[in-house]
Amino acid sequence: MKLNVLVLGAGFGGLELSSLLSEALGNNLDLTLIDKNESFFLGFSKLDVMFGKKTPESVRLYYKNIVKPGVRFHQEEILEIDPDTRRVTTNKDIYHPDILVIALGADYDQAATPGLLEGGNEFYSFEGAERLRSIIPTFTNGHAIIGVTSTPFKCPPAPSEAALLLDEYLIAHGVRDNCEISLVMPFNIPIPPSPKTSRALLSTFKERGITFIPNRLVNSLDPDRKVAILDDKTELPYDLFLGIPKHRVPAVVETSGMTDDGWIPVEYKTLESFYPNVYAIGDVTSVGTAKAGIFSEGAAQTVAAKLIAEFRGGVHPPDYNGAGSCYIEFGRKMVGRVDVDFLSDVTPSSQFFEPSDAMVKEKQHFGASRKEKWFGLKD
Ligand SMILES: Cc1cc2nc3c(=O)[nH]c(=O)nc-3n(C[C@H](O)[C@H](O)[C@H](O)COP(=O)(O)OP(=O)(O)OC[C@H]3O[C@@H](n4cnc5c(N)ncnc54)[C@H](O)[C@@H]3O)c2cc1C
Repeated sequence: MKLNVLVLGAGFGGLELSSLLSEALGNNLDLTLIDKNESFFLGFSKLDVMFGKKTPESVRLYYKNIVKPGVRFHQEEILEIDPDTRRVTTNKDIYHPDILVIALGADYDQAATPGLLEGGNEFYSFEGAERLRSIIPTFTNGHAIIGVTSTPFKCPPAPSEAALLLDEYLIAHGVRDNCEISLVMPFNIPIPPSPKTSRALLSTFKERGITFIPNRLVNSLDPDRKVAILDDKTELPYDLFLGIPKHRVPAVVETSGMTDDGWIPVEYKTLESFYPNVYAIGDVTSVGTAKAGIFSEGAAQTVAAKLIAEFRGGVHPPDYNGAGSCYIEFGRKMVGRVDVDFLSDVTPSSQFFEPSDAMVKEKQHFGASRKEKWFGLKD
């Protein structure tokens, strides 16, 4: 008897789960991993792409490189999920697995912010980051706004990183003195679970002349007047708008009927959905962590341990603790790290590691280790 699993979505969560199950069960595994794309990229590579540090092609990791016992990758679009029967329909096939894992991440709804498509830019999708490669060089004076339009959003440090990397970029191009940078965030501090990280970011913003506008969202843009309109009706003129678009579950998840308040609810200790033998991991859930790859990976590790223990008849593995480390670009070749544990206690706990050369190397290792573990590719 083989463990029969269907994993929907080959992002952080799906890749980690498939790798761990293959490593543990080898040919006792019968796993199909489905994604509509032909390649994966780490979330933070979008920042490298938008600021021209790396080419789009150099950060793509192709699924055709996945060679793992018991794992098949299928490039297909998932069109329908029936969680009651675990029947999944794609543009090419119909699946009926024993175990179904939904790891479809979060999509964007750019149209939800009036004026964003016509008068602004976003850097959360790969295409958006790619487009910005030719737009950012044209910004040589005026006001740049990095603005969050809705919560929740992926990788809460990313807007702060974008502001700091824009500062670095403008200095390198000799135009920083002609430009203002503002960051509009829905929280009173940049990283609410970590006051220490937030203090370090706020003092860096101050040092580098970046205006932090707390407790506000950008509701809309008026492209004709080139103003961003905040949720308290304040109007901010802009010359370059870098937005964080509204997040939502992929449409196929919404029509599956599995969501509640926009996301898939799960038993947070085990990542089980409310349907038998159906799990959900990562950004697509409302598990209670921030939406970031490192937490999707942790959720995948919990589900893998549970499935392996059940298959082999082993002891019950530890519950999911929602803990993970995120690297933070401070610009000017500085990288720090924040570790957050969201679920072990009633309130999240955190630790901040100051920017250092060691962190720059650690972040490089983080990327290289995923490339090797999931795709068998060495840097
Ligand atoms: C600018 C930026 C910087 C970031 N930096 C970091 C960082 O430093 N550290 C970190 O941990 N996280 C970071 N993130 C967040 C990270 O990228 C996401 O949180 C992470 O990818 C979520 O993993 P996941 O497995 O839940 O979903 P995803 O990785 O988004 O994977 C979901 C997959 O499902 C597929 N899919 C969706 N719908 C369908 C369909 N209908 N049919 C077939 N396939 C489908 C998608 O193609 C995708 O490959 C960053 C994000 C951004 C935008």
